[in-house]
Amino acid sequence: MLTDYHVHLRPDDLDAAAGEYFTGQNVERYLAAAEEAEIDELGVSEHVYRFRQALEVWDHPFWVENANDDLDAYRDFVRTTPLRLGLEMDYVPGREDRIANLLDAQDLDYVIGSVHFIGDRAVDHQDWDAWEARGNPDAVWRRYFETLAEAARSGLFDILAHPDLVKVWGRARPMPERDPRFYYEPAVEAIAETGIAVEVSTAGLRKPVGEIYPAPTFAVMCVDAGAAFALSSDAHVPGDIGYAYEQALEAMGSWGVTEIAVFEERERRLAPLGRSEVGAKGGSPQ
Ligand SMILES: [Zn+2]
Ligand SMILES: [Zn+2]
Repeated sequence: MLTDYHVHLRPDDLDAAAGEYFTGQNVERYLAAAEEAEIDELGVSEHVYRFRQALEVWDHPFWVENANDDLDAYRDFVRTTPLRLGLEMDYVPGREDRIANLLDAQDLDYVIGSVHFIGDRAVDHQDWDAWEARGNPDAVWRRYFETLAEAARSGLFDILAHPDLVKVWGRARPMPERDPRFYYEPAVEAIAETGIAVEVSTAGLRKPVGEIYPAPTFAVMCVDAGAAFALSSDAHVPGDIGYAYEQALEAMGSWGVTEIAVFEERERRLAPLGRSEVGAKGGSPQ
């Protein structure tokens, strides 16, 4: 079984309007790309902050600027398609009840929990750069992974997105000197306690860091802790569906991962990881 669940129907640009991308024609392009990439299950997970309802959770200026669409309309649209219905929901510490209210109002197949912000600064957005305000990489990394642990413990999410996103800039931002295990540890503990699925994301290969999320050391710690894994590309265009999955499958195999998490109506099951056997095409069985 191969899935791609962390998928956006449009780029992150403000002017990528819902009316232009939440269309049957666009979904057809995504489904065709998924078939080409031999993905068995395709789901979409738009950023929560692009919907007006998100402002009930947080009023960060970046969210205010982005919150132009209606979450119910997104849900209703996706339900007219064969896509699984997901949402990429930022974890905002202290706003757990508001997040729960927002999620409860939707009948989602899965919720992907993300940490992009630590406080009001982002680890992956240069306009809100966490490093500028808080020059010390040790503090940025520590706070990022502590927030990730809180996100897991909140119980609000099915999948923990791009779990070491803090590395996204690679050498373009200072790295802490300590052994990274020091930072991973609290997150791995929370993952083990809660059973949340850990996302293997090939998006990191398209970013300055040029690596899959999570890093091998982090991934192996999760495996040792008995974690379940999900697999996604974080595509924002059809051409990135199933991006570099060969590399992801090879990495997951080397970490000892043999199953992936599959979701429907927020119920999880584990399926064997890998390309599904396809019958002989265009010929009668021998
Ligand atoms: Zn994200
Ligand atoms: Zn995403």
